[in-house]
Formats: sequence, C-alpha cells, structure tokens
Amino acid sequence: MNHTTRFAPSPTGRLHVGNIRTALHNWMLAQKAGGAFILRIDDTDAERSKEEYVDAIRADLTWLGLEWTSEERQSQRLNAYEAAFERLRDAGRIYPAYETQQELELKRKVQLGRGLPPIYDRAALALTDEERAAKEAEGIAPHWRFKLDHDEAIEWTDGVRGKAKFDPAQLSDPVIRRANGSWLYMLPSTVDDVDMGVTQVLRGEDHVSNTAVQIQMFTAMGAPVPDFAHEALLVGKEGKLSKRLGSLGCDAFRERGIEPEAIIALLSRLGTSLPVEPIADRAQLLESFDLGTFGRAPAKFDDAELERVNTAIVHQMPYDAVKDRLPEGMDEAGWHAVQPNVSTVGEVAEWWRLVTGPIELPEFSDEDRAYLKQAADTLTWGDDPWGALTSALKEATGRKGKALFLPLRQALTGMNHGPDMGELLPLIGEEKARARLERGAL
Ligand code: GLU
Repeated sequence: MNHTTRFAPSPTGRLHVGNIRTALHNWMLAQKAGGAFILRIDDTDAERSKEEYVDAIRADLTWLGLEWTSEERQSQRLNAYEAAFERLRDAGRIYPAYETQQELELKRKVQLGRGLPPIYDRAALALTDEERAAKEAEGIAPHWRFKLDHDEAIEWTDGVRGKAKFDPAQLSDPVIRRANGSWLYMLPSTVDDVDMGVTQVLRGEDHVSNTAVQIQMFTAMGAPVPDFAHEALLVGKEGKLSKRLGSLGCDAFRERGIEPEAIIALLSRLGTSLPVEPIADRAQLLESFDLGTFGRAPAKFDDAELERVNTAIVHQMPYDAVKDRLPEGMDEAGWHAVQPNVSTVGEVAEWWRLVTGPIELPEFSDEDRAYLKQAADTLTWGDDPWGALTSALKEATGRKGKALFLPLRQALTGMNHGPDMGELLPLIGEEKARARLERGAL
C-alpha cells in the first residue's frame, strides 16, 4: 500500500516546537515507509492566514531538512469543498441551522445548569420547511452542521492510544460552514485527506474528538478511513502546557546555536520509550522510529536536555557540515582543534580569535618571563611543535604540570584554558608563536 502522510499547519503564526514535532513524526512515518509527505497549508481562514507565515513554514521545514513531496493549499480547493458539501447535503448529512451565538450559549448554560453535557439539541433539524423559509425571509442566513449518525459507536484503533471508542450521541453535530459561506476546519480537512490519498493521519491528541467526527465524514463520502494516531501533547519540563513552548520556534533555536539535527534527535524520541540520544544520523533515528513506542503521558520538553543533545551533536559534526559557517580562514584542522571546546558552532569564532589574534597577555612574574624567553629560543617547528617544546622545556627547567604548561598557554593564547595546545599551536604558526612567546618575556 502507498503511504501518504501530511502536515497541515494553519499559517496564522510561526511553527512552534509542538508543530515541529508533529511535522517531524509525519515526515518520519512517510520516510520510513518510502511514502509521500504532503505539506498542506490550512488557509481557509482568510483573515488570520498570512503569506509571510506560509513562507516561514516552508523556510523552517527546509532548515530542519524535512522535505515535503508536494504542497497543497486549502484556499485553492474551495470548489472541492463545495462539491462535497452539496453531495453530503443532498444525502441528508448536512443541515442548515439558524441559532445565533447567544442562543447557543444560552442553551449550553441551561444544559450545564441541569447537569447535562452541552450537546447541540438538533433543534434546527426539527424545523419544518415553512419555519426555515420564515427564518430566511427574516434575512437569517443559515450556518451548516454535519449530522452525526447516532446508530453506531465510532471506533478505531489509534496508532498511539490503542482502542478508541466514541458514542456519537455524546457529540454535537459540528458546524462545518459559517453563514457567510466560509469553512470551518472539519470538512475541508476530510475532503483533502480523501482527495490526496492520505493513508495515515498523525496529529496531537487535542484532535481526538475531531477524529470521531471525521471518521463519519469519510464513511459518508464513501471513502476509506485512514489510520489515525494521536500523540500526547508536548509540555514544559514542569509538566504544564507552557506559553513559552507555544512561541518557541526555529528562529529562537537558530539564534541559540541549536542545530536542526539536535532538534530532530530530541523530538523524534521525546515522549517515547526510547532514550533521547545525540544521534545525528537520520537513518538511525528512522530505523528505531515506531508509534508503538509512543507513550500516552505528555512529552516533557526540557531546554537543558536540548542543549546537551546539541553539544554532543556539535562534537560529532564533520567539517563539511559546518565549513560554510566557520570564520574566514578556518580550515579543517582549525575546526577539529576547536570543536571539542564549543557547544555551538557559533562559539568557534571566539576560539579562532586566539589563533588569528590579536590577543591580550596577562602580567607574568619575572620567573615566568625568563621561562617564556627560554621557550621562544627553544621553539622548533616539526610535526608536533607543542610536544617537542614542552618536553624540551621540561628537561631543561625541571618544570612540570601547571608550571610547565600554563605560562605557555597564556602567552600563546592569552587564556588559562581552551582547546588542546597540540592542535592549536600548528594553527597559530611558527612565526606568530615565537612572537607571542617573546612578547610574554618582555
Ligand atoms: N490545521 C489543523 C491544525 O493545525 C490541522 C489538524 C490536522 O492535522 O488535521 O490543528
């Protein structure tokens, strides 16, 4: 069977980490099955949808390396929704309703007051033709509801939650179209899933009751019902849905020097029974990716964990993957010298400055100045200038440990700590190294 998944963001804002996670999992499902991953822009809400967000969604997915097979836009598919609407209306599955917001609100209050669930009472369904005509003569345009079939329980096997069962009588017939003709989410999404051959719908558990309704829509349209899976929501580390997570997106990650591979490694495992590991190889992540490992408890997003994964990923990154982002003149040897000392690629600039200079030297004691003079005179340039220099100095001065190494590091880099000197010294070069040692001796 062909596998097709989709990611269906509404372009009413930037993608946040929760959306990114859903996009990733759909991409992974498709990749793993060798199927298609559709980017579907849910832009039926003309007022809130913005082109700049569509562009940002594309840019974010591209940065994350989540290529999509094709792109669809709901705003260009209005004819398809209209056709499905007419078919379902003619089949008696869609009916007009005339209540105002206030009337509906009042009904809900009364029901709640009586301890009843606030389910739509289907009063509109009981209207006679004359009563409907009278409403319309009054100038009241109807909105439209999908009529749920109450005869049978709605059941499916959820890819994450297992057996799911809804009594349709406990659900309101959903409003699918507003009085002004515009669409609500429910029907267009189903029509798209049918027309685009979506075989697997994976989304957040906030959509579970929508799924119950949409399963009836698929059936009413005579279409096969896709497999559904609903993942537990992403929460902050304190266990609550946090406002911050709702605005945390690719821009913020990029600014903090978080690599896409770190986000992918974390989000592909978070909330599953598999350990979060700094795996930069997507094939490896795909191999172990399995909805069966997803837990039902909310997945906890922890910034510190992301940073740990990121540092470990940065420490594995090959030169080719970073070379376009390194400071001018920094070559492969430079990257390898500095790589273990950084937690983001951006931090290399600071260390690279030690190589290129200028550097600031600390005050040295008389004794250390003499030692640095000796070092400048001892310096020779072979395969391993640092090894040669330090063993010669150790021999000649009897210094060892900190007394042997620290003044040299300070004079050569201006710092008390940093990348391995054995790798750094060849990058500094003979001339500059001797000049720095001599300067320290002044
Ligand atoms: N636009 C909907 C949302 O962002 C899509 C839900 C779905 O995946 O069907 O919630």
